[in-house]
Amino acid sequence: MLYYSLSDIDTKVSFKDACLLGQSPEGGLFYPSYIPTWDKDLLFAKKDDICSAGTEVLFPYVCGEQDPTAISKNQLYDIVSKTLSFPIPLVTIHPKVHVLELFHGPTMAFKDVGATFLSLCLSHYAASIAKEITVLVATSGDTGGAVANAFSGIRGVRVVILYPVGKVSPLQEKQLCDPAENVFTLKVRGTFDDCQSLVKQAFRDKAIQQSIYLTSANSINVARWISQQLYYVKAFYDWGKESLPSMCVPSGNFGNLCAGMLANQSGLPVQHFIAACNANDCVPTFLNGNQPFQTKPAVQTLSNAMDIGSPNNFVRLQQLFDNNKAALQKHLSSYRVSDEETKSTIKEVYEQYGYILEPHGAVAYHALMQHQKQHTSPAEGIILATAHPIKFAESVEEILGIKLPVPPAAQHIMERKINSIPLDADYTKFKDWIFNNLS
Ligand SMILES: *Cc1c(COP(=O)(O)O)cnc(C)c1O
Repeated sequence: MLYYSLSDIDTKVSFKDACLLGQSPEGGLFYPSYIPTWDKDLLFAKKDDICSAGTEVLFPYVCGEQDPTAISKNQLYDIVSKTLSFPIPLVTIHPKVHVLELFHGPTMAFKDVGATFLSLCLSHYAASIAKEITVLVATSGDTGGAVANAFSGIRGVRVVILYPVGKVSPLQEKQLCDPAENVFTLKVRGTFDDCQSLVKQAFRDKAIQQSIYLTSANSINVARWISQQLYYVKAFYDWGKESLPSMCVPSGNFGNLCAGMLANQSGLPVQHFIAACNANDCVPTFLNGNQPFQTKPAVQTLSNAMDIGSPNNFVRLQQLFDNNKAALQKHLSSYRVSDEETKSTIKEVYEQYGYILEPHGAVAYHALMQHQKQHTSPAEGIILATAHPIKFAESVEEILGIKLPVPPAAQHIMERKINSIPLDADYTKFKDWIFNNLS
């Protein structure tokens, strides 16, 4: 598979290069040169073996016929098996709403899948590269934790994580501070968008490019993006019913949703997609109105991993439908959910069904309810639960007036020290830090 840059269609690279570069030199996102079509009989035959089904789905994206360092099918099977090393159950809340629980991985967030897949791909390629690989990532909370964990101790690769200080939960902050020597964590006095802007500037900086082998681990990176198709495949296998569900995805940078819609274009049966957003609502505003797409400054909400005013992957989503808004609208609806609605949803779902949602899952639940009120078909929906409630214990406990039991994995992380390094949201200072610590 070749990938081209969405800001320059003449820049074409292999999966290896797309993975290593993160984005194209002029800042464009890489996009597959064709969308593979799935052999449905073959996929169905693999219903009981998600790892080999996942290998079939992802192989067209990673293969490189001419390149001896490319990932082979057997190696991919190994990578997929390690990536899917935890359960992804489909749980029924009530007859119209099912939850795909994506939070049983090592950092209790769905980003474990994409981050692990990327770390294993980079670890595969590190052997063929002379310089140490440096992964640079801005996080609004969960990405950084998943990345720190996935890369912890991986040889030939080091990670630099930037997060907005005071805007992540205590458990998230400890997850960002991995004790491994190849993980560096910077706490930035600013917003997530500031962190993202520092990262973007570093990628464009010629002086840095010359001395450091930089790549990204944000959902910009194709390895993170495409591997998220795996849980939609898993959901489809577990679903098993004739009538198809809608799939409602709590969205921030839109990588997750865009992976689902990519899988759907390849042939995965899904009736309709729903993008659930918090007050950062540029996508629902665009889809439900008549104005051109417009980003907005990020605002802070309870579902902080989705506090993104300028969603990276939305250009990919538009590209999937040839930038045709009407075609996109046929497959995708979008709703905005306020913090008040998020809170009342957490309360109601717990009181009525005994199921504990955290804010991101609650945004999805509420958006699905709005959709089901306005449309009779499809009758049933799946929400993607992207984080374990314990990751947002402060808000969930306050809303429900209960104490959440702490799972052993979280207990272990809470005992960690915060070892992050303070940094102003100032590019010159960031660059100095890079040259003083990494070159
Ligand atoms: C990252 C994240 C999201 C948003 O996912 P995108 O792929 O960026 O849209 C939703 N929920 C949680 C808990 C997250 O960590």
